[in-house]
Amino acid sequence: MRYSSALYEKAASTIKSRKENAEAVARRHRDEVLKKYPELSDIENEMAQAGLDVIRAMGSGTLTPELVNGLAKHNLDAQKARGELLAAAGYPEDYLKPSYVCKKCEDSGIYNGKLCECHLKLLRQLSYDELSSTSPLMLSSFDGFDLSYYPARTDSKTGISPRKRMSEILGFCKEYAATFDLGSQSIFMNGATGLGKTHLSLAIAGEVVEKGFGVIYGTAQNLLGKLEREHFGRQNEGESNIEQMLLECDLLIIDDLGTEFNTSFTVASVYNIINTRLLAGLPTIINTNLSWKEFEDKYEKRVTSRIYTFVSLQFCGTDIRMLKK
Ligand SMILES: [Zn+2]
Repeated sequence: MRYSSALYEKAASTIKSRKENAEAVARRHRDEVLKKYPELSDIENEMAQAGLDVIRAMGSGTLTPELVNGLAKHNLDAQKARGELLAAAGYPEDYLKPSYVCKKCEDSGIYNGKLCECHLKLLRQLSYDELSSTSPLMLSSFDGFDLSYYPARTDSKTGISPRKRMSEILGFCKEYAATFDLGSQSIFMNGATGLGKTHLSLAIAGEVVEKGFGVIYGTAQNLLGKLEREHFGRQNEGESNIEQMLLECDLLIIDDLGTEFNTSFTVASVYNIINTRLLAGLPTIINTNLSWKEFEDKYEKRVTSRIYTFVSLQFCGTDIRMLKK
């Protein structure tokens, strides 16, 4: 995948600030321990001195195996003393070491002369964020999902208690996010506007991103609009390959399917996306306000027949946005 230079810069600056943060925290910890235990400074001076002695001996050609062994032992003793000091004071062993996000490259972004995995992962998620309507990193959480908005009483027409149904759906979505992997099932959420479909999809997205998977979230209108621009060559310079991203991301969430303007292009694209991802075994979450009947009328049979293989979650209750007003 090729990325724009702006994206490379953004990733590099994120990694740089990860490193700076980790090191600033370590410095704060050191200052804190030093204040209470000034003897730490002597121990560290000894460690630094041992290193300097080696360099000096190398420079003057007087480095002998005995000297190296002696200094190494000296250094180990100092390290041991530092460990004991921390332990006696009740600090964790690694309290003075920077806690890097990526232990492999220590947040330098480079490993073995190449971009580290953490760097590639970040580039990928940043490109997905660019395409998404909301940055999946700043999302609704499961904790914010309030079941008290859903009536507990059983609806006489449907025979369903919305609260009970929604509590089951919430439980399903939490479990789905907690155990997500590339073989996870696809989900079809439907129900009227304002019943929490977007909220739960974003909560899933947030947890799945946290786990290091690449997630794209967007409304059908937004994603298909961008795809159409790309297809008809009206893409802005430096934009990445949208179709490829939609087909290959670890989890694709299409919100509000059915509100997009229907053309033969959009219908064919929806089919292509759903079908290609199903064949590749990649999970997709689709939300719609349309009823099954409306859905079947709007999309061809080849689309609906694929959706039948999704886990279907039927949302119910009263429009929460109205209740919150
Ligand atoms: Zn790394």
